[in-house]
Amino acid sequence: MTSPAAGDDAGNPGSRALFDRARAVIPGGVSSPVRAFNAVGGTPRFIRSAQGAWLTDADGHELVDLVCSWGPMLLGHAHPEVLAEVQAAVGRGTSYGAPTEPELELGEEIVARTPVERVRFVSSGTEATMSVVRLARGFTGRDVVVKFAGCYHGHVDALLASAGSGLATFAVPGTPGVPASSTALTLVLPYGDRAAVTAAFAEHGERIACLVTEAAPGNMGVIAPEPGFNAFLAETCRAHGALFVTDEVMTGFRASRQGQWGLDGAVEGWVPDLMTFGKVMGGGFPAAAFGGRADVMSMLAPEGPVYQAGTLSGNPVATTAGLATLRRATDEVYAHLHAVGETIKAATTAALDAAGVAHVVQSTGTMFSVFLCEGPVRDFDDASRTDQAAYAAFFHAMLDAGVYLPPSAFEAWFVSAAHDERAVQVVLDALPGAARAAAGAQQGAAR
Ligand SMILES: *Cc1c(COP(=O)(O)O)cnc(C)c1O
Repeated sequence: MTSPAAGDDAGNPGSRALFDRARAVIPGGVSSPVRAFNAVGGTPRFIRSAQGAWLTDADGHELVDLVCSWGPMLLGHAHPEVLAEVQAAVGRGTSYGAPTEPELELGEEIVARTPVERVRFVSSGTEATMSVVRLARGFTGRDVVVKFAGCYHGHVDALLASAGSGLATFAVPGTPGVPASSTALTLVLPYGDRAAVTAAFAEHGERIACLVTEAAPGNMGVIAPEPGFNAFLAETCRAHGALFVTDEVMTGFRASRQGQWGLDGAVEGWVPDLMTFGKVMGGGFPAAAFGGRADVMSMLAPEGPVYQAGTLSGNPVATTAGLATLRRATDEVYAHLHAVGETIKAATTAALDAAGVAHVVQSTGTMFSVFLCEGPVRDFDDASRTDQAAYAAFFHAMLDAGVYLPPSAFEAWFVSAAHDERAVQVVLDALPGAARAAAGAQQGAAR
């Protein structure tokens, strides 16, 4: 990857030394690939601490955080009241392998905010989607799973699939290490394409256990579903005896108080059969969940025959953090996230317009992202047109000016309740220069 702006390393000797050491013991130096900055070039910042809207890196730079741990830090980092509850929980012991009250109360909070009737806890979003696919297969007695290109559901074998060579054909593995047999039962369709969904169900309907979709895609940048699209999916699934699964690991308790469903199903009057949650509901700890219809969830062991388990599932510290976060995720918090998002979106558009950089800002509820290409972006093919070299230049200019954006052009930007005027001003001040850097990278490429 050649990035025109990758020469920022001189000011980051601390991160550079740590990254060199890390690469000797951890593949790529990171525990999750996007953190390595491969898409933008340069050295990833090692983070020493975080407070409110701010990160402090290994060289002492203070950065306004627009990643927020990829979504979870809805209230900001190290929220004092959340920390106090977590510290009290830690003092009571960190794991018992037995049922606890925080887990029960977090379950009640999730049931109160969403249409799920029963919920089970796991430790990551990946585990949630993996479990939900097994449960859907166990409940329906069918094997085929339908997903959309560009929707990410964690690194579950069956869902790490690329589209096959035509509509309604079975998928090929999206990575080495996934056996063809794992994706041979997965159909991958273009997002938003009703005709493709209808065709897939017409041909394979009797074999389809479930359709899994991000309730609103956020992992190819943010794409709000067209009004009625999720309702159409719910109806199509019902008509064919398949389960409709909305993955709200990213959107849950983030896009709105009730997640994407609060903007969509709650308004249009549809309910998914199963849902997955993660990120915000863990309050910055490894906690995730899946839930849904009582009759389907009853198929899970020990009530039913579908096996699913976890040593640290429902961990008392993690569920305390999640509960402390959700209880403070009030309407005022979502109104603040919305207002901050609107300010940053408008300033980003103004800066990119002034610099002559083609772009489109898309959002759903309080979640948004910026594509450096002409809009609208409706599916993965559209998203693929985003100018990655221009984004790399934009990203590094923002970073140099003290703003930590996602190190990939295909990610949502996240704000928190702690993004105050001072933090937002740093972002606003950084945007014009970053937009000019993006324009410069485009001209460089055109030369
Ligand atoms: C992040 C994410 C996952 C995976 O969650 P992990 O906790 O990273 O395993 C699954 N689905 C969606 C929609 C996500 O955004």
